[in-house]
Amino acid sequence: MTATRTAPPALESVKLLIGGRWEAGDARRFGEVFNPSTGQVIARVPLCGPADVDRAVQAAAAALPAWAEVPVVERAQVMFRFRDLVVRHAEELARTVTREHGKTLAEARASVQRGVEMIEFACGIPSLIMGQTLPNIAANVDCETVRHPVGVCAGITPFNFPAMVPLWMFPVAVTCGNTFVLKPSEKVPLSAVKLGELLREAGLPDGVFNIVHGDKECVDALLTHPLVRAISFVGSTAVAKAIYETGTRHGKRVQAAGGAKNHIIIMPDADLEQAAKALQSAAFGCAGERCMAGSLALPVGNVGDRLVETLCGLAGKMKVGPTDGGADVDMGPVITRAHLERVAGYLDVGREEGAAVALDGRQVPRHGDGFLIGPSVLDRVKPDMRVAKEEIFGPVLSVVRVNDLDEAIAIGRRCPYGNGASIFTRSGWAARQFKQHFNAGMIGINVGVPAPMAWFPFTGWNQSFFGDLHIQGTEAVQFYTQQKMTMSCWKTLDKPVF
Ligand code: NAD
Repeated sequence: MTATRTAPPALESVKLLIGGRWEAGDARRFGEVFNPSTGQVIARVPLCGPADVDRAVQAAAAALPAWAEVPVVERAQVMFRFRDLVVRHAEELARTVTREHGKTLAEARASVQRGVEMIEFACGIPSLIMGQTLPNIAANVDCETVRHPVGVCAGITPFNFPAMVPLWMFPVAVTCGNTFVLKPSEKVPLSAVKLGELLREAGLPDGVFNIVHGDKECVDALLTHPLVRAISFVGSTAVAKAIYETGTRHGKRVQAAGGAKNHIIIMPDADLEQAAKALQSAAFGCAGERCMAGSLALPVGNVGDRLVETLCGLAGKMKVGPTDGGADVDMGPVITRAHLERVAGYLDVGREEGAAVALDGRQVPRHGDGFLIGPSVLDRVKPDMRVAKEEIFGPVLSVVRVNDLDEAIAIGRRCPYGNGASIFTRSGWAARQFKQHFNAGMIGINVGVPAPMAWFPFTGWNQSFFGDLHIQGTEAVQFYTQQKMTMSCWKTLDKPVF
C-alpha cells in the first residue's frame, strides 16, 4: 500500500462507518490494499480528508450524551455480546487478517485471541471504573471520586496487527462511556471493517463507534479536531512522537506507542535449545513485524558460536511461503514490496558495516509476486552499527557478542527504544540483575516475547512510548476516564423536620 494512484475501478472501495451507516465518503484519493501473499491488489481504500473526519467526529459527539448515560453494566452487556460474536467469527477474522497482512493463519488466530482477551477485560469495567470514598474527612464532610468518560476518543492503528491493536483501544474506551472514531492502517482496513460489523450486530448504538480511513491528512484532521478529547496511537516512533506533540498541543490527552529494538540476552548457563527456539520465534514470528520482536541477540561469553549455529539450523529449515488460503508454512510475506526491499537492504547495510551474513533470507524460493523474504541472521554485529540500533521490522536478527551481563545491560542503556527485553539463564542472580537494571518496560525471563496480556499495561519506555498512561490494563481505564471529586457537607441543621 498505499500508492495514491487509482486502483482497478472494478474493485469496491472499503466503506466508512459514520453514525451507524456504511458509506463511501467523499475522498478524492485512494490507496491500494494488497494481499502480500500474492502481491495482488484486493481492495481500494479511500484516503479521507477533513470533511469525512468531521462528519465522523460529529456523529461520535452526537451519540456521546446518551451513551455516557447508559448504565455501565448495560454498556458491558454490549461487550459480552460483542465478545461472543468475535469468538463465533474468529476464523473469518483470522483469515481476513492473513489475507490483508500476510501473517500465517496460526499467528492470525493467536492475534484474534489476544484481541478477544481485551474485550473480556472491557466486560469487567464496571468493577474497574468504581470510585473511592472517604467519609467524615472533617465533621459531617464526606469526600468521593467517580470516573466519567472523557468524550470523543480517536484511535490510529498500525498495519502489523489489523484486528488486535484496534481491539486494544475501543472496547475499553466505549465501555467507559466514550464514543470512538477508529482510523485503521490504510494498508489493512478490512479486519477493522469486520469488527465494526460485529459491533453493530452486538447492539452498539449508532455513532458510538465510527471508522474513517486514510493517511496523514486524515490523521491530522483527527489530531486537530476540537471535539476529539483523547488520541490513542500505535505505530512507528517518528509518527508516535509527532502525534503526541500535535495532539497535546491541541489540548488532547494522548497515549502514543512507538517502535522498538528488543534485546535478548543468552547467558552461558542457559538451556541453549530452549533459548534458540525462543529466539527463532521472537525474531521471525509474524515475519519480524512485531513491536515486541526480539531483533537483537546478545550471547554472553563463549555461547555465541553454538547459539548462531543452532539458530541458523532452526531458521534455515523454516518453510516460507504464501499464507493466504491457510497454507502450511512457518513464515509469511512482509507487508509490501517497498518494505521487502527496505528489509533486504538492511542485509547489505550490515555487510558493508562489517557484520557477517550467517543466514541470508533473500535466497528464499519465489512464489509468484508475493512479498516474501526468509529469516536472516547477521552475526558479529557491533553495537554502534545501524543494524544493531535501527528497527528493521522484518525477519532479520542481529547478533552482538558480549563478554558479560554488564556489557549487555550497558548496550541496552544506550538504546533509544525501551519496549521489551529478555534473558535466558539458569541463574537467579543474573535474572534479577537483568530485571532490575535493563532499560526497557517489558521484561522476559526465559520468555522470548514478554508481551503482556490484556490485564497488564503495555509498558513501553523511552522512545517506545509517549504519554503517561499506557494501553491495556487499568492504565487504559484511567486514560479513557476523568475523575470527578465531590466533597459534601451536611450539618445537623440540615436535618429535615417533618
Ligand atoms: P506507521 O507509523 O507508519 O503508521 C501507523 C499509523 O499512523 C497508520 O494508521 C498510518 O496511516 C498513520 N501514519 C503514518 N504516517 C503518518 C504521518 N506522517 N502522520 C500521521 N499519521 C501517519 O506504522 P506502521 O508501519 O503501520 O506500523 C509499524 C510500526 O508500529 C513499527 O514501528 C512497530 O514497532 C510499531 N508498533 C508499535 C507497537 C507498540 O505497542 N509499541 C505495537 C505495534 C506496532
